Amino acid sequence: MKRFITGVTVLAVAFSTLPACAPQEQAVPDSSALEQSISESISADISSDPEPVSSQAAAPALEVAVGGATVSVAADAELSTFDVSAVENLPVFSAPDAQCSITWNGESVFEGAAEALKEFRPSQNGVYTYKVALPDGSAYQFGVNCQFPVKITVPTTVQQGETILIRADYANGITLTAQSGLDFTPQFFASGDNTQTALLPVRYTTAPGAYPLTVQAGEVTFRYEIQVQKREFEVQYLTMDPGTAADTALSAAANAEWEQKIEPLKKIADPQRYWENPFLQPVEGEITTEFGCIRYTNDDPTPTRHSGIDIATAKGTPVLASNNGRVLFADYLQLTGNTILIEHGYGLKTFYYHMDSLNVKAGDMVQKGQQIGAVGTTGYSTGPHLHFGLAVNNVFVNPWTALQNGI
Ligand SMILES: [Zn+2]
Repeated sequence: MKRFITGVTVLAVAFSTLPACAPQEQAVPDSSALEQSISESISADISSDPEPVSSQAAAPALEVAVGGATVSVAADAELSTFDVSAVENLPVFSAPDAQCSITWNGESVFEGAAEALKEFRPSQNGVYTYKVALPDGSAYQFGVNCQFPVKITVPTTVQQGETILIRADYANGITLTAQSGLDFTPQFFASGDNTQTALLPVRYTTAPGAYPLTVQAGEVTFRYEIQVQKREFEVQYLTMDPGTAADTALSAAANAEWEQKIEPLKKIADPQRYWENPFLQPVEGEITTEFGCIRYTNDDPTPTRHSGIDIATAKGTPVLASNNGRVLFADYLQLTGNTILIEHGYGLKTFYYHMDSLNVKAGDMVQKGQQIGAVGTTGYSTGPHLHFGLAVNNVFVNPWTALQNGI
């Protein structure tokens, strides 16, 4: 290509020495041997390319707006790179028929019409190579070095008992920490090449109102106010066999065993996300007690709160893992009978109580939908049902959200 462009330049010079109306053949017979050889070389170049000379010579530069500036990118020019530090400053240009492709680290990340470029959002920082082709064959390229500041996404309105997902984009290599007024310290985990996420559970007992959240991203501090909204909770009056109650909820030994075996496991947070949204309801059946239910048992004037949902169905019905994860506990406990605890990553856990039998053991990796046990009525239970709970570390949250929308 370079040789051809040189040829065109020479041709223009050769023509300028001739009368404007003189055809080339007329000039050649009187020319020197040197001129003859130039002319032959030019003819060879032209004949080897079917494109007309004028359109090749006149491909206009592409005017690219980058932030407040306009940059002219010449056709077939060497790659030059623009620095862009805000999403609003990504390059745009007016070329309705242009086709564009963008690569990042040799990987294709965009392919389409110039019009669709407006929707393109680099998922991470780094150099993106833009290639633009016009219908007349002219081609342009330029690099865009994206160095966006970390972007935090957090919902600021939430109901009692829900889970807040804090997402940080363009966060590669940045140390993120968070402090909240919600009696929980969220922990960030890398959840992609350039994204980190943290879970912030809101207790169902947290009083409605405004709570501060501070996210520290490297040197930058982001401050939020989380509005916790009231949620209506069911009230239930339960009659429990006094003997069962004495052996379970009212038993110091049963509570001590729980404290010793389960509480330490709640602190675990695998730095890997195993779960895929949404979660799966582990068993079908009648919902006999709702999440967060305020429960008065026998004649006790002080209510307890129900940390999960109770699903009543026939003894022996298979209980399925609600999501992929790592089994932290699978054993009999005096308080909750045959019990399974699964870690789904980032501290997100599901709990399964009162089962008749267990199919997995601690340390097993399980898949969503895999049978982990069978419905029973072991521990603090009045009949065959599965108690299903969801928690972020030590805070139980609404499992319905995970089942319907995911976390
Ligand atoms: Zn229950």
